[in-house]
Amino acid sequence: MSYSPELLAPAGSLEKLKVAVLYGANAVYCGGQQFGLRTAAENFTNDELLEGVEFAHARNAQVFVVLNGFLHDKDLVSLPEFLYFLEEIHVDAVIVSDIGVVETVKEHTSLPIHLSTQASCLNVESAKLWEKMGVKRVILGREASIADGALIKKHTDLEVELFIHGSMCMAYSGNCVISNYTQGRDSNRGGCAHSCRFEYELENENSKQKAYFMSSKDLNGLEHLELFLGSKIDSLKIEGRMKGHLYAATVAKSYSRAIREWKETGSVSRATLEKSLNELNKISHRLYTDTNLIESSKEDSIFDEREQVEGKYVTVGFVEESVPGKHLVIDVKKAFDKGDTLELIPFVSDEVSFKAKNIFTLNLKEEIERTNPGSLVKIPYSENANRFSLIRRKTLEGSEVNQ
Ligand code: SF4
Repeated sequence: MSYSPELLAPAGSLEKLKVAVLYGANAVYCGGQQFGLRTAAENFTNDELLEGVEFAHARNAQVFVVLNGFLHDKDLVSLPEFLYFLEEIHVDAVIVSDIGVVETVKEHTSLPIHLSTQASCLNVESAKLWEKMGVKRVILGREASIADGALIKKHTDLEVELFIHGSMCMAYSGNCVISNYTQGRDSNRGGCAHSCRFEYELENENSKQKAYFMSSKDLNGLEHLELFLGSKIDSLKIEGRMKGHLYAATVAKSYSRAIREWKETGSVSRATLEKSLNELNKISHRLYTDTNLIESSKEDSIFDEREQVEGKYVTVGFVEESVPGKHLVIDVKKAFDKGDTLELIPFVSDEVSFKAKNIFTLNLKEEIERTNPGSLVKIPYSENANRFSLIRRKTLEGSEVNQ
């Protein structure tokens, strides 16, 4: 079968699912109200899951639902009902860590099973066992290299999914009890408090020293994209269900641009890599590293200075409607002022800078100086723009991480 790499993006909410798909993701992963590991994310209701699947399938993208918590027997009781629902709405796969959940999925449905990174599959023997147990795909632990992924592909019939971008976990892919200890919260049941990001005091006989010695830099594997693709890694995974719309759009667009070029020409040009890296540098991130993709990460992957690189842009809204030659209707997410320079982010082509020379209320009855989040406004704009395109504004004030 011919190789067609999948770009898999996080969908922390229904809106972010749409953003990721429109900006080039071939698949998205999201969580329902239960059974996952992201209790704080805006997890999907059943209605949102249905809408998300319909939206993605209409655009040839797939939806995977995360069920990667480690469950107690009492938690398993209500799982079959949710699984029936997922099968009924044609979810494309479920992402599972717990062997008990694997068995429950097999017993009650024909849903394809992807083994979560949480299960820390790193080697061929482990992968073979999971294959025997009915798993279709392994999402390798973030400790795995591209070469590890290629080896597993060679010795099994499994699909291999490997992280290419996003935050890292210093523990073996979340098998971590630091949050239990520091906050009474269980990472393995959705309660990670990011305790590895805190500053700790190290003490020995002679000295005390404060340090962020457990926090990892963020993964950025763009420079190794050709190796991912040459190794026929099936799915290139982006981390970040907790991150904002601008992150979802920027990362999906940056990687899909490069993958598209590879599909068309068999390689990725330096110019394309630079363009994508430039965009990835505009979103909030810790310093980047390629961690374990080539060789095991070393001291230089520790992010010990708290030097979060703040995003250079904020999302001010989405295009709700475009009337070429006349105006855009913008669904405002963050206030902007008359005279501000904005940038439209098309799904594929380059960003377009323009000035909000005038801002009008929706009925054009009133011209306003400043927009309000949550409102719809009209601004003059001559070109066409796709519905749901993001509009961003340069900021001096910093982060959009939680937008
Ligand atoms: S506290 Fe840090 S190392 Fe532990 S699970 Fe959370 S992100 Fe991973």
